[in-house]
Amino acid sequence: METPQHTAVGLLDYAAAQPWPAGTLVRVPLGRRTVTGIVWGPSEGELPPGAVLRPIEQALTALPPLPAAWRDLVAFAAGYYQRGLGELALAVLPPELRKLDATQLGRRLKRANPEVPPAESPPLRPLTPEQASALEALEALPPGPVLLHGVTGSGKTELYLRAAARALDAGRQVLVLVPEINLTPQLEARFAERFPGRVLVAQHSGLTPPQRLRHWLQAHHGQADLVLGTRLSVFTPMPRLGLIVVDEEHDPSFKQQDGARYSARDLAVFRGRLENVTVILGSATPSLETWQRALDGRYARLTLADRVGGGALPRVRIFDMNRLPPEGPNRASLTVLAPPLQAAIEARVARGEQSLLLLNRRGYAPVLHCAACGWKSGCPHCSAWRVFHKLDRTLRCHHCGFTERVPRACPDCGNPDIAPVGRGTEKLEEQIAALLPGARIARIDADSTRLKGALEAQLAAVHAGEVDVLIGTQMVAKGHDFRRMTLVAAVNPDGALFASDFRAPERMFALLMQAGGRAGRDAAQAAGSEMWVQTWHPTHPLYAALARHDYTAFAASQLEERRAVGLPPFSHLALLRAESKDAEIARAFLQDAAAVPAPAGLSCYEPVPPPVAKVADVERLQLLVESSSRPLLQHWLAAWVPQLHALKARHKGLIRWAVDVDPLGF
Ligand code: ADP
Ligand code: ZN
Ligand code: ZN
Repeated sequence: METPQHTAVGLLDYAAAQPWPAGTLVRVPLGRRTVTGIVWGPSEGELPPGAVLRPIEQALTALPPLPAAWRDLVAFAAGYYQRGLGELALAVLPPELRKLDATQLGRRLKRANPEVPPAESPPLRPLTPEQASALEALEALPPGPVLLHGVTGSGKTELYLRAAARALDAGRQVLVLVPEINLTPQLEARFAERFPGRVLVAQHSGLTPPQRLRHWLQAHHGQADLVLGTRLSVFTPMPRLGLIVVDEEHDPSFKQQDGARYSARDLAVFRGRLENVTVILGSATPSLETWQRALDGRYARLTLADRVGGGALPRVRIFDMNRLPPEGPNRASLTVLAPPLQAAIEARVARGEQSLLLLNRRGYAPVLHCAACGWKSGCPHCSAWRVFHKLDRTLRCHHCGFTERVPRACPDCGNPDIAPVGRGTEKLEEQIAALLPGARIARIDADSTRLKGALEAQLAAVHAGEVDVLIGTQMVAKGHDFRRMTLVAAVNPDGALFASDFRAPERMFALLMQAGGRAGRDAAQAAGSEMWVQTWHPTHPLYAALARHDYTAFAASQLEERRAVGLPPFSHLALLRAESKDAEIARAFLQDAAAVPAPAGLSCYEPVPPPVAKVADVERLQLLVESSSRPLLQHWLAAWVPQLHALKARHKGLIRWAVDVDPLGF
């Protein structure tokens, strides 16, 4: 689940036959093994008398030393996120590189020589006036972070391409970060098409280890002009770096959720400052942290308010579910699709247009229930329900993976009549098929795309017009350029309004804006495009802002709430997480940690369980640390975390602990 332990591997001393430059990769003995290390500099301080250093076995001199900017970035990240420097530095290198000795590396280097024949770039489309003035403003800015706030389809990507062209023409390299591996092929295709004579490499976890190493080497040698990848690529060394783009900067996927829990978006901004380059943060719904920084003038801000081609954003229709008749024979099906929504979809099917139904919950039903005795399909290993998957008749835990055949009868009382409660995408698919008998229906979620190539095939079918109604989770809401889609509906999004996670409304708003952005991308059809929301709370301010496509108003209201209660971006948080088979052990550890005297201006709260306390038989608890001053929090963490290493030894049975700085959820 996560890297084994919070090991404080820092700097180790070795004897060197010659003073290798900092950043040189070396093979060194560690215990009985030989491992790869990075020369950080001459040893600091005196060795104890009589100490004998072990020698460096080999320096991988075929590889240029990792540059100072890379080392500074890694050192900053290790310090900021409270990880061992050595641990982090090695973890962000391609795994394959760590295995090679000098001879093997030499062989790989011979093979890693890309040849891209020179080619003409395609003729450029003229920019829209809005794009042109944004580009002009961008080019006039000094290097630094720039928020590019543009509605979906406003041509942000085109601006990335123009800015990239400028950096490439100046002989520089460009780094493009995307939230998800699913979205890389699309963006990669657009960059490849625009820059056919350039070397473009990808960096993400879907590559084979040799591919990943080859791409990394190309970047590090300065052969790759463009590096496009997910969060891990923020650490790619690039000697000629001239521009960083973070697409969909608000996306939670930029935050690593285990090991070193870094935010690639935030590190990109830091890296931009280190290397004195522009960092474009693009989004239709910026994270509130970024938005507040732009309001404060710490980030520059550019706006694209209109869709390219003058297409309108979809008209938002908030349907009040309280208007449905309280009873009646087909009440159940009315709550699946309200009659006017069903009619709107039917009209589109008839016209050959596509509709997207968004439901952020996969499986058939989130829980099975026995009405006779009250049994529910809990997971024996987690504090969570197991989800009913009807297609393969399983009960599956989405937290630990524990899977069983669905029982024929209630395991507690034998009642054969156990019933699914609630609805996931599988059930919605079944219900829609019944409601729209003639329509071609497809479902895209983590289950339907488990096999390699399945997602590509399913998306291709949608693009080819072989699907009338697409049902999907957030997976389909992002990025895709569906040309025939004119209706998007959120079937039941209310959950986020009342979630305990303070970021849930922000995420839901972004998701709905993104999903809405899938409709009417073809300007010819934009006028008739619609975004539907079925809700029991139609007057909620989130929906009111959505109906007006008014991110600014939504952000203002959220920021006001956060300011009032002292939540980010008006305070800075860290979570100390602890895991044990026995919750009391985790609690005792956290209580001891909280008892370390903290300075004024910093609060340590009581240990509490996260929303899902037990996962795979391990109990989890967490402690929130909060301060209105980031430097104070950082200062405290740097003093506190070393004490926690010592504290752990006093709590037998503590499996692991970790600090999460700027946590996304809790
Ligand atoms: P965003 O990244 O903001 O969602 P895109 O860059 O994908 O927007 O642009 C939306 C659509 O408009 C794409 O199909 C793109 O090819 C097209 N487009 C962007 N800029 C222009 C332009 N200047 N002229 C014509 N079409 C454009
Ligand atoms: Zn029962
Ligand atoms: Zn489980």
